[in-house]
Amino acid sequence: MRGRLVEINEPVRLHKVPAERLPRRISDLAALARARATTEDAELACVFVHEDLDSGDGDDYPSIHRRVQDALCRELGNAHYVLAVEEMEAWLLLFPDALSDLVGSWKLPAKYRGKDTGRLTDPKGILMREVSKGGRRYRESDAPAVLERVVALAIHREPIGSNRSWTRLGTDIADCCSRHLKQPTKTR
Ligand SMILES: [Zn+2]
Repeated sequence: MRGRLVEINEPVRLHKVPAERLPRRISDLAALARARATTEDAELACVFVHEDLDSGDGDDYPSIHRRVQDALCRELGNAHYVLAVEEMEAWLLLFPDALSDLVGSWKLPAKYRGKDTGRLTDPKGILMREVSKGGRRYRESDAPAVLERVVALAIHREPIGSNRSWTRLGTDIADCCSRHLKQPTKTR
C-alpha cells in the first residue's frame, strides 16, 4: 500500500482546550479527518496534528504534550501531536543554510547558532528583523519553502542547535513509518 499525505487546514488549539472539552474537540477533528479519507477513497492510516505552543520550552512541555497526545490516541489510534515550542519559526532557526539557500541575503546572526531555539523569545521576530534585515523580508508564508530547502539539502537530521519539538517530530515520523504505515524504516 502506498501512503499519501493529505493536508487539512483546520485551525487547532488543542493545548488550550480544558480537559472536559478535549474529547469532544478531538472527536470533531477525527470526524473531519475520516470524512476527508472517505472523499479521497483512502484508508486513514495516521493523523499528525500540528500547532504552535505560543510559549517557549519549559518544564511543563512534556505534560502539555502528553495530555493531548493521549487524547488523540484514544480517539484515533494512530496519531501524532506535533507541538512546536514557541512557534514553528523556531525550527527554521536550526537551519541557517536553508535560510540562506532560499534567499541569498538571509543570514542567521552567530549569536543564534547552536542554541536551543525552543527557548529563544520571538523566533518570528528574529527572522523578520535580524535574519532578513536589509533584504527581502521574511514572511510567515515563507516557512514551508524554508522547510522544503531543509529537505532538499538533506540537512534535516543535522540541525545547528537543538529544539526538542523538532527532535520529537523526527521520532514521530520514524515511529509512524515503522508502525502505522507498515513500511520499513531506513536504518541509520
Ligand atoms: Zn503515525
